[in-house]
Amino acid sequence: MDLVVQSPRHPAVGETILGGEFHTFPGGKGANQAVAASRLGARVRMIGRVGADNFGEALLLALKNDGVDTQYISRDPTTATGVALITVSAAGKNTIVVAPGANAQLSIQDLEAAGAAFQTAQILVTQLESPLPVIKRAVELAQQYGVKTILNPAPSQPLEARLLEQIDYLIPNEHELALLSGSADLKIGIGKLQQLGVKNLIVTLGESGVTVVQGRKSHHLPAFKVEAVDTTAAGDAFIGAFAVALSQGLDVFQAARWGNAAGALAATLPGAQPSLPNRNALEELVARRS
Ligand code: ADP
Repeated sequence: MDLVVQSPRHPAVGETILGGEFHTFPGGKGANQAVAASRLGARVRMIGRVGADNFGEALLLALKNDGVDTQYISRDPTTATGVALITVSAAGKNTIVVAPGANAQLSIQDLEAAGAAFQTAQILVTQLESPLPVIKRAVELAQQYGVKTILNPAPSQPLEARLLEQIDYLIPNEHELALLSGSADLKIGIGKLQQLGVKNLIVTLGESGVTVVQGRKSHHLPAFKVEAVDTTAAGDAFIGAFAVALSQGLDVFQAARWGNAAGALAATLPGAQPSLPNRNALEELVARRS
């Protein structure tokens, strides 16, 4: 759950200041991506964990309202729901502290309990807001059942080559690519990850669009031109749409075009989940410009 307070400025260490309005918004990368895919018509099941508190209840309700199957999201009796404490200054800059809470308690047993979901799924989408051992096990299970895997390596952290090799589609933004590859240069970074065995690398570049690399083929797709007001969840919209496109049999380049369109649409509206596009809006944008 995102807890957001407006503030004239950020307080100094030890200082207390009066802020403005306070709001709570359903968030979390995994939940945003699940909602993004569901709004575009996919059948989505989410595996995760929330606390047995009001935030957990509200998050489950938000997911259900968007058609996401929540039967594999457990309620942790002893740990609070994960939250992000966000302060937004008048200058529009934010500071964020994430308390992972119940997310960090997601266990391999939770995954095993969701075995039926792996048997029928086409695609596994995962991020790094769940514990790494659980993500690794999820990728193994996916491979066992012939499920394609997408990893969004966010929030960024170093990853071992074995996982990078196993993933079918790795989708970092520029900063995550720099951290994973050890180079801030896009070309060098891409080369390094390819050397490490990444099969399909899709690097999102904000208003510059996306670069897609598959073996020797590399394409840059410019972003759709839109009036951007808030790019929060643009990356999550991209990933949800990319996954849906793949599940419909489109290739990696076409799927990236869907992602580009969804990311652009998400940038035109404020907020995270409220800004995620529906199928009609996406198809219109994908068809409108070539
Ligand atoms: P993240 O939100 O993870 O940092 P990006 O900022 O790279 O991810 O955005 C993801 C995608 O959303 C981009 O690849 C692009 O397709 C789209 N996007 C983001 N910002 C804009 C923008 N200002 N105009 C058009 N498309 C955008």
